[in-house]
Amino acid sequence: MNKLRLITGVFSFIPFTHVKVCLNVIGTDVLLRTSYMSFTIQIRFLGGLTPTQQTVFEVAANRWAQIITENLPPVRLDNGEIIDDVRIDAQGATIDGDAGILGQAGPTQLRSGSLLPATGMMRFDSADLARLEIDGSLLNVIIHEMAHVLGFGTLWSPQFLNLITGEGSDNPLFIGENAKREYTQLIGGDTTEGVPVANTGGPGTRDGHWRESIFDNELMTGFINSGENPVSRMSIASFEDMGYSVSYEAADEFVVPSTDQFALRQPNLNLVCSMCSSKILRCDPIVLPESAFL
Ligand SMILES: [Zn+2]
Repeated sequence: MNKLRLITGVFSFIPFTHVKVCLNVIGTDVLLRTSYMSFTIQIRFLGGLTPTQQTVFEVAANRWAQIITENLPPVRLDNGEIIDDVRIDAQGATIDGDAGILGQAGPTQLRSGSLLPATGMMRFDSADLARLEIDGSLLNVIIHEMAHVLGFGTLWSPQFLNLITGEGSDNPLFIGENAKREYTQLIGGDTTEGVPVANTGGPGTRDGHWRESIFDNELMTGFINSGENPVSRMSIASFEDMGYSVSYEAADEFVVPSTDQFALRQPNLNLVCSMCSSKILRCDPIVLPESAFL
């Protein structure tokens, strides 16, 4: 079973110059506007992506526009551009070849108050994009990374939306009430302190995904599985906890694997993990001033 380890988290060592790179991308090739119901994700293509790869971004944006149902207040950026609701700059680039660094994805500018993203970026190593396209996992990877741009794992910390406890410990938990409700329904329990969050995988994977040892092939664990990677009601609930309006009808069917089922899968996970070294970097997002609202 091929598993891609997806690294998340806002890296504190990223220097300010790095943030400027995130914000000052120029050279628009194509502006894609994807709208379903009223939430809109614009994908601004900045080059380096094939037509089929661009289509994958479009499909991924459509998926999140099914899940998130209401628009966010429009904002005006420093350069005068108006954003409604989220714009993501997407780019393919030569970074370090196959494996190694997969790229960079995350929110770059947040709304005042709600701290929900106005802009984000998704920049991938062209060699990795080609490989992921060939092995059939590109769409799941792009949907997964787009979730990080929208805030999953990247805006949970006390610095932002304060939706996680125990960061860095053996038992980090997501404490949003809606996700907790969906988790108890998944496991058949009554109450829970929180949803188990990744407690392994280094400073990027841990604290920013659902815990792989419990949720296995759910899309927002730190690993992409071969085959199905459902977006559960619990993941959708976590977006409601972040402040988005959501549609639970957009959820994929998902059940928590039994201990027996999971025990059978573990050997594969440990033996075949050809993509585990892929790293994805984040941006340190800035918060727009309140005056950015129109
Ligand atoms: Zn991830």
